[in-house]
Amino acid sequence: MRIGIDIGGTKIVVGLVNEAGRVTARKKVKTESDQGYTAVRDKVNRVVRDLLAEAGARPKSIKSIGIACAGQIDHETERIIFSPNLQWTDAPLKHDVETLTGIKTFIENDVNAATYGEWKFGFHGAGSNVVGIFIGTGIGGGLILNGTLFRGSNGVGGELGHITLNPYGYPCRCGNTGCFEAYCGGSYVVGRVRQHLDRGYRGKLWDIIKGQVEGLNAGHIEEAYMLGDEICHRTWGEVIEYLGAALQSVANLLNPDLIIFGGGVVAGTRRLIEEARLVMERRAMRASVAGLRLERARLGEEAMILGAAFVMDA
Ligand SMILES: [Zn+2]
Repeated sequence: MRIGIDIGGTKIVVGLVNEAGRVTARKKVKTESDQGYTAVRDKVNRVVRDLLAEAGARPKSIKSIGIACAGQIDHETERIIFSPNLQWTDAPLKHDVETLTGIKTFIENDVNAATYGEWKFGFHGAGSNVVGIFIGTGIGGGLILNGTLFRGSNGVGGELGHITLNPYGYPCRCGNTGCFEAYCGGSYVVGRVRQHLDRGYRGKLWDIIKGQVEGLNAGHIEEAYMLGDEICHRTWGEVIEYLGAALQSVANLLNPDLIIFGGGVVAGTRRLIEEARLVMERRAMRASVAGLRLERARLGEEAMILGAAFVMDA
């Protein structure tokens, strides 16, 4: 058995996983990252112990712990360099969890883990060049190249969300302008539409959200776009065009077999991937997209647990 752990900004999920890639038991707790690194670290240790006790398993029977965590990870020192979601800098999480639990521990970027988990267990290892694109509030990317997880020289490669699609474009939270994330990340898109609503714009969108501006999400914007709402037509049309352009760039650069799409914006919309595919095909060189599969993620939150548990084998 192995343990896979997903530490997110709001929740921690710990799963007991067998060698066939089945999650046999799991526990979920609130992260409460405002209590600081030490509190979260101790909570992880406690949940691991509780899970093992409930499953009647001894720590000795666990091969390894894999932790998926948002942020940049230094694979040489095995410390978390910076995690904006958790407000951690230079956190020795691997070392600490290993010491506290007595179980060999590995740590991986969350999107890398999710991409690996989806590829290995959601798609049964199909193809050898696979790209994961997770579109939620922001955009994360993961790359499997020649059947191996690609981490780059400093371990922080695969930041697809921050490739520049327009040097003169919208500002991005990373400090750059015109990033893929600034065009297609959920919080950016919602923010732009929201500005119009705050200035008094009404239209089909207003009826869809029944005036509940706080709950506005990408699904509402897509629906209003399909009904011809003026602002949503412009904004969502831009999302589709830029996502398609990003896919074309990825396809021409890497010529992958498969692109897996996950995250809240993908799960919450109906035609985004299909429409972006048309843009990609219009823009790309034909051989770069021949046989390329664009698929939605299949495992949901399990991808992160399974990826975390197995990614050290990648
Ligand atoms: Zn950026």
